[in-house]
Amino acid sequence: MEAYVEAFLNAITGTLSWTWKSILFDVPWYLNYFWGLILISLVVWFLEITFPWRKEQGVFRKDFWLDGFYMFFNFFLFAIAISGIYKILGVFFEDIGIKANSLALIDTSHWPMWAQLLLFFIVLDFVQWFTHVLLHKYAFLWNFHQVHHSVKEMGFAAHLRYHWMENIFYKPLKTFGVMILGGFEPEQAYIVHFAAITIGHFNHSNIKITWGPLKYVLNNPVMHLYHHAYDLPPGTYGVNFGISLSLWDYIFKTNYIPEDSGNVKLGYPGDENLPQDFIGQVSHGFRFKKKKSVN
Ligand SMILES: [Zn+2]
Ligand SMILES: [Zn+2]
Repeated sequence: MEAYVEAFLNAITGTLSWTWKSILFDVPWYLNYFWGLILISLVVWFLEITFPWRKEQGVFRKDFWLDGFYMFFNFFLFAIAISGIYKILGVFFEDIGIKANSLALIDTSHWPMWAQLLLFFIVLDFVQWFTHVLLHKYAFLWNFHQVHHSVKEMGFAAHLRYHWMENIFYKPLKTFGVMILGGFEPEQAYIVHFAAITIGHFNHSNIKITWGPLKYVLNNPVMHLYHHAYDLPPGTYGVNFGISLSLWDYIFKTNYIPEDSGNVKLGYPGDENLPQDFIGQVSHGFRFKKKKSVN
């Protein structure tokens, strides 16, 4: 028991001090997610302002600051808070004999680094695509995912507007992905993480990018805007579930881009019942049978 308490506290203080050191530039620059996230945000925001797709959209669009806060909340504050729990689970699984490499299907450690990173990127993207499909398919998961779909004007910061429970829903399959790849992240996994943040920011940005023929592989703002469309094609519970890659949607026939004007109503039927403020949104989703008239 003592080992669990110690692991819990060590993880929290470790993550907290790592975040603090990042703010002070006291970590290697390529591992500095704090300033990295700010830099990527500023670059994509600058491009949005310079090359806007929807020209009438404000530089500080609706919910700009709320979404900006979500970025730091989900990426840092929640990460610190949850680190102790994840550590306890890690110790528990190890105690019962399940190690990080227990499910290893392939040993990629002798592969060139670029090949390790590419496979890591593809596997992680696929498990996240699959998790995202589940978030739309099951009502109890969709309740939480509504926060991300409550965006009414799309801009880069909407990328990280999502309910903190989503961090937890994505975790098991992401861990599973790492486990089948040997149980550890490639040494230079930060390249994949930064690439994913950048692609995600672009997918939500007010910039018209389609990547030409590469659109069948890479997700893009035009495709992802339709993921956020208020009106879905009849008989579907969602389209364009891609995270970084659009490939899975083309393979599983969940792709849908009817036009590319950029002017499409966003949200979902019933979004007027979602609380507008952060506190209301982080506690949303737990009362499963909430009556519409409550708000
Ligand atoms: Zn979604
Ligand atoms: Zn989105």
